[in-house]
Amino acid sequence: MSKEFDAEIVGSGPNGLAAAVVMARAGLRVRVSESSTLLGGGMKTLRLGPYDLLHDTCSAVHPQALNSEFFQRFKIGNRVDWITPDVSFAHAVTPERSILVHRKMESMKISLNSEMRKYSRRILRLLNSQEDLGAATLGGPSGLLQHPVILAQLGLGGLFAAADRDNDTVSTLFAGLISHCGQQRSLAASVAAIALGASAHLGGWPIPRGGSSSIAQAMIDDIEKYGGVFRTNHVVKDLDEFESPIKILNMHPRQANELLSGKVPERNLRAFRNFKPGMSVLKVDYVLKSPVPWNDPLLSLTPTLHLGGSAEQIRRSEASAEKGQMMGLPMVIAGQPTLFDDSRSKSGLHSLWAYCHVPAGAGPGIADQITAQIERFAPDFRKVVIDHYTTTPYMFNSRNANYVGGDILGGAVNMRQLLTRPKFGLNPWRSPLKGVWLASASVAPGPSVHGMAGYLAALDALDTVFGIDVPPDLSPS
Ligand SMILES: Cc1cc2nc3c(=O)[nH]c(=O)nc-3n(C[C@H](O)[C@H](O)[C@H](O)COP(=O)(O)OP(=O)(O)OC[C@H]3O[C@@H](n4cnc5c(N)ncnc54)[C@H](O)[C@@H]3O)c2cc1C
Repeated sequence: MSKEFDAEIVGSGPNGLAAAVVMARAGLRVRVSESSTLLGGGMKTLRLGPYDLLHDTCSAVHPQALNSEFFQRFKIGNRVDWITPDVSFAHAVTPERSILVHRKMESMKISLNSEMRKYSRRILRLLNSQEDLGAATLGGPSGLLQHPVILAQLGLGGLFAAADRDNDTVSTLFAGLISHCGQQRSLAASVAAIALGASAHLGGWPIPRGGSSSIAQAMIDDIEKYGGVFRTNHVVKDLDEFESPIKILNMHPRQANELLSGKVPERNLRAFRNFKPGMSVLKVDYVLKSPVPWNDPLLSLTPTLHLGGSAEQIRRSEASAEKGQMMGLPMVIAGQPTLFDDSRSKSGLHSLWAYCHVPAGAGPGIADQITAQIERFAPDFRKVVIDHYTTTPYMFNSRNANYVGGDILGGAVNMRQLLTRPKFGLNPWRSPLKGVWLASASVAPGPSVHGMAGYLAALDALDTVFGIDVPPDLSPS
């Protein structure tokens, strides 16, 4: 039994660490317990096999980090060296034709030409203020309610994108963005796609020098500086091991359900029990002797790629993955960070990460379909591949209990789970058990590295338990 802590945090993902930062900065005695041997959750950068090459195991591109109130107050811009490309991402349509999404809207006018008006209709009103977009989309239910204009623009843009059956350039771009955020035809994923698309022109889609673990390390250093402690290799199976007045669970609702079961009436856990996982993902990390020889050299101008073909092709391949069939070439989200960050490879080798939606329980064989899709846009790709490592949905889940069934978004991004993530109300972070909060990608404001669920849960816990209603200073001292 531990009596020496004011706050126990279970899980060291961005939300767990954000909660720990806030608690430690408020002068509380904090401990973070993590089941893995390594801290950071989805923000880990590891050596790729025996090669002198660093790769991000999960998160790699970080538009949401710059939009987050937590990271802005934490001054992540000064603590991590960000590489922000002029081209936020590129979408490969055919081997000969790619669409570049430039940060500058001016450049979009040239590439979209007559479709610029359609593109602007989806996102233009969101471009007035990066801060407002961050506050609206990452502030939880009250953040959305406080920004009705942004809410309306997101809703309208999302409706058009979800209902779109065209096959033009703008429809193709948004079909790729929707897959990045969840499932095709989902209004919630389409709303998220509108916000993600707008972020390409605001702060851009930056990657951290050295990989996403540099974000985790900045948070770990701060927590330790203010007296917080860590315990790795410790799976929390029972909340009774904690005596602290505050417990913050950086967990999936299904796991929280198990920990809380028997401690509160079962009906109060219904939302946790019924929380639906999203689509499974399979990822391949390639070791390359030289950069990918893209047929269209424009694809080398950005770290982040959507390799999906046309809108029609994306809708068809995503629908087949949803039905469990995996027909044709998949919509692949890919990244080539070593082209932009030389600190990740001392040996001259390059890396390419690539993932796609797959049927639940999919095996490693689907890696061949990802390779075939890359080859479609780089016919000589195999000639530069030295080695590759596949992460199946099962492997994702066994490495991180929050990736239920290999769903990397912490739960299906549907309208119900967008608005009530994981339960209805203005304070979705508070669990039915006194003193326990839930703070993960499964809780508002949802997936990505922004730390906002942990930040908002921690502020509520500070106020509720200790009467501290002024957020602590989080800037570097
Ligand atoms: C392949 C992939 C690519 C991604 N790309 C991006 C990207 O480019 N940009 C982006 O912003 N996001 C990306 N994401 C999503 C992002 O990583 C997640 O949304 C984010 O990490 C979720 O943060 P979290 O705080 O909820 O928890 P997580 O990061 O999932 O961390 C939870 C932690 O809790 C620990 N834990 C769980 N149960 C227990 C227990 N019982 N006891 C102790 N510890 C426990 C886990 O081991 C884990 O370390 C990606 C994810 C994946 C898998």
